[in-house]
Amino acid sequence: MSSEPEKRVRVRFAPSPTGYPHLGNIRTALFNWLFARHYNGEFILRIEDTDVARRVEGAIEAILDSLQWLGLNWDEGPHFQSQRLPFYQEVANKLLKEDHAYLCYCSPEQLEAMRQEQMGRKQPPKYDGRCRNLTQQERARLEATGIIPVVRFKMPPEGETTFHDLIRGSITFRNDTLDDFVLLKSDGYPTYHLANVVDDHLMNISHVLRADEWLSSTPRHALLYQALGWQPPEFAHLPMILGTDRTKLSKRHGVAAINEYQKQGYLPNSMINFLALLGWSLDDRTELLNREELIEHFSLERVSKAAAIFDKAKLEWMNGVYLRKLSPEEFVQRATPFLDEGLAPSVKRPLDSDYICQVMPLIQERARILGEVPQLAHFFFVDELQYTTELLLSQNIDARTAIRAIEVTLQKLRAMEAWGTQHLEDTLRPLSTELDLSTGKFFGLLRVAITGRTAAPPLFQTMAVLGKGKSLERLCTAQQKLLQQY
Ligand code: GLU
Repeated sequence: MSSEPEKRVRVRFAPSPTGYPHLGNIRTALFNWLFARHYNGEFILRIEDTDVARRVEGAIEAILDSLQWLGLNWDEGPHFQSQRLPFYQEVANKLLKEDHAYLCYCSPEQLEAMRQEQMGRKQPPKYDGRCRNLTQQERARLEATGIIPVVRFKMPPEGETTFHDLIRGSITFRNDTLDDFVLLKSDGYPTYHLANVVDDHLMNISHVLRADEWLSSTPRHALLYQALGWQPPEFAHLPMILGTDRTKLSKRHGVAAINEYQKQGYLPNSMINFLALLGWSLDDRTELLNREELIEHFSLERVSKAAAIFDKAKLEWMNGVYLRKLSPEEFVQRATPFLDEGLAPSVKRPLDSDYICQVMPLIQERARILGEVPQLAHFFFVDELQYTTELLLSQNIDARTAIRAIEVTLQKLRAMEAWGTQHLEDTLRPLSTELDLSTGKFFGLLRVAITGRTAAPPLFQTMAVLGKGKSLERLCTAQQKLLQQY
């Protein structure tokens, strides 16, 4: 039962530049974008930068960069609220004139004292409305002191406010739990509530899709729309995102700012797929959906009310899937900057691009994020491997047997004319029988000698790429190590 929107779809992503965009912010952006694209509507970008004190340097650039990186293109904007102050001031004046708002002269100290007193009485703190019914004389006296007032909304003292949420259904708040909130501050800047409502109206926003932390603001917005005689947009509050332990998402859960994921080597496509499943699903089973499929199937009906769970392991897995889907060329192209950055400085630069092209297919099979590539591939590039002699013997092979096995291997390999995966396999597999060693023990030994580790890409392919010279050299080094110690 999918209900088509009645109005032309115009949605917005309206971040406040009070920090770098995190996963939750971008999930909101994505759902808006998918909704717009699904209905051939418009996706508008609006920067809600009216809280001057909380602005963070670089946040706007980070927001734009993240959206661009993920391919969440916008059709309009960015609009900056800080450049639209006259619109909000005009609406505040209209509300004053029509008796839906009033001027308040209370100082921060007075408000703090009020709060303390209410808490002392175990009451929830809220503005007590003392400026609501000032007489002309009182107002004139306060004006004369030079205090610049704020504008507050006149909240209906009783009754209830109900609005419909497309995800959660009908929601009702008691008006007496809401206070006469500030609309316009004394510096002439609007509060979030005023600017948000004015812009959603002026920008013809059809649907407000936002995080569920804003749910408690919505009755205020609904009352503002009513007071202004404006038709409110539809609302949909997206479910919270929690960690796997069902607590509020934090660094502890491995969640990072979006630009961090970019730096660590996540792909835009896997991020999009992963974020889309934070609160939306196609059918409770399908995990892998590309951009086009997401656009085709996205609907608010399939957004859940229940909290979404952020699972870092799933994100890594998914990114690995998307890495393996890349063409070998694209993988090389994306991995090269990471190699350049991450390989030890002792590795000669510029890196040999032909060699990278040979090595990368082996790494592509294994990497979950591009940031892991240097670490997974470093043994292909360094001159000397660092490992202990014990590691050579970790498959429970005794030192004498190991020394002999390497000796015989060296002889066979030296005699090989063609060097390739299949030749290596044809030469080395029979050798394990000849030496009366299980393949586990024998290849385990060779693997450590060749790569310096126990888990690595397939041995014969690795040796083929590494080349004859380097492979023989590493086997000799391993033999020396053993001889020195045993
Ligand atoms: N500026 C708010 C934010 O940072 C926007 C909330 C809304 O979408 O109404 O999330």
